[in-house]
Amino acid sequence: MSQYKMLVAGKLVKGSTSLDVINPATEEVFATVPRACQEDVIVAVAAAKSAQKLWKNVAESERRAVVYKIADAIAEHAEELAKAITLEQGKVLDFARMEVQFAEAFCRSLASHEFPVKVLDETDTNRVEEHRNPLGVVAAIIPWNFPLLIAVYKISPALATGNAIILKPAPTTPVAALILGQIIADIVPKGLVSIIVDNNDLGPALTSHPDIAKVSFTGSTPTGKAIMKSAANTMKRLTLELGGNDAAIVLDDADPKAIAPGIFGSAFINSGQVCIALKRLYVHESVYDELCDEIATLAKNAVVGNGMEEGVQFGPVQNKEQYEKVLSYIEEGKAQGTVIAGGEAPNQPGYVIPLTVIKDLHDGCSLVDEEPFGPVLPIVKYTDLDDAIASANNSKMGLGGSVWSSNLDRAAQVAAQLDTGTVWINQHSAFSPHIHMAPAKESGLGTEWGEEGVKEFTACKIININKA
Ligand code: NAD
Repeated sequence: MSQYKMLVAGKLVKGSTSLDVINPATEEVFATVPRACQEDVIVAVAAAKSAQKLWKNVAESERRAVVYKIADAIAEHAEELAKAITLEQGKVLDFARMEVQFAEAFCRSLASHEFPVKVLDETDTNRVEEHRNPLGVVAAIIPWNFPLLIAVYKISPALATGNAIILKPAPTTPVAALILGQIIADIVPKGLVSIIVDNNDLGPALTSHPDIAKVSFTGSTPTGKAIMKSAANTMKRLTLELGGNDAAIVLDDADPKAIAPGIFGSAFINSGQVCIALKRLYVHESVYDELCDEIATLAKNAVVGNGMEEGVQFGPVQNKEQYEKVLSYIEEGKAQGTVIAGGEAPNQPGYVIPLTVIKDLHDGCSLVDEEPFGPVLPIVKYTDLDDAIASANNSKMGLGGSVWSSNLDRAAQVAAQLDTGTVWINQHSAFSPHIHMAPAKESGLGTEWGEEGVKEFTACKIININKA
């Protein structure tokens, strides 16, 4: 597909203006896509509102069947979608193929939940029922790290539970979402799904629109806060999946050789551009040197470059702004710690940063305290486990964390003390569509995935009947 169109109010449209999309591996424009205006938002919301009035009365099984057809369409267009993801996002093609497979799996899984009427009380004189009803029109606003997967895991539960949806991808990665719109245009009822491309300017038009009932947002914490403010006036339902600064604590009994690949993999997955990536590593002094060496070796041997090229294992950072941000975090880390892998970006086109590992850092360094969202891992040595737990918890973020140990009971005791929505033991970043993610602190609000996450696309209504 080289002619991209936006699905707006049931029609595939060219848009009144356009936007160039840059391949982060080369810095070249590889696609020009339609860009929406305020009027498109108004038209899309009005069409969604009308379409949802009919859709909410369609039987759950029929709604699910439509969502499963979307999953089928994703599978049929898998290679085209994967190539688009690599070109716009940068991740290596095999990983982009995996993103497409995940998108299909999430699409099916999240549509499979059923919410029958629940009887809360039943006596001779009274019956109380809980009904789960659709909310109306959902606005889904997403970031650039998984442009297809995140789009799909919002569209699927929204439609399956009887809502309409308007999706707004990130301006630097709109292509996979546009292809999705084009391949599902004849599958979904007209107007039920719209896909609006902007240049970071149309989010507020959605989040303040009186006919949007819910905003499902994935992105940074500052934008999440802006959305809360914008949505407050109309008291919209909000699910906010925001930034993270996941800490991992390695206990003194851990085997450095055995755990290094797992730590390395979850720190550098998608070149570190994952909300639930491992972002700071606290290692007990007894295993510190050996573990640092193991991780440094893995990082130095990794091939970073153009995700379209054979043999490349890690792609570039997705956009220029993020590339510069990550490099500035690395500069501060270099000044305060010891670089044991990477550290210098090559002088060539593209946003490639070699996998960088910096040890001997301390809390108080921005690279440790903040979320760089790129291919750099800061390592901190600790002596006292309570100090490491305090450091891990001393963050405004609370998405995930992990504990690494050869003793699962000990690890579980530490896991219980971490203030995060998810804690992994001897792994990090593992996720599945049926397991919900509920961030703590400023990492977000509400829940995504699993039955709990799908429920957030519904309104709870109690019917309380006097039978006497
Ligand atoms: P971002 O917040 O800058 O942008 C995300 C989306 O919000 C984009 O579509 C953008 O156009 C839109 N947007 C920007 N300003 C807006 C406004 N005022 N109102 C409404 N929408 C607006 O985030 P990003 O840089 O694209 O993504 C990186 C961040 O996303 C990281 O912090 C990362 O941790 C986070 N993230 C979180 C999760 C999660 O599930 N918790 C997943 C992926 C990424």
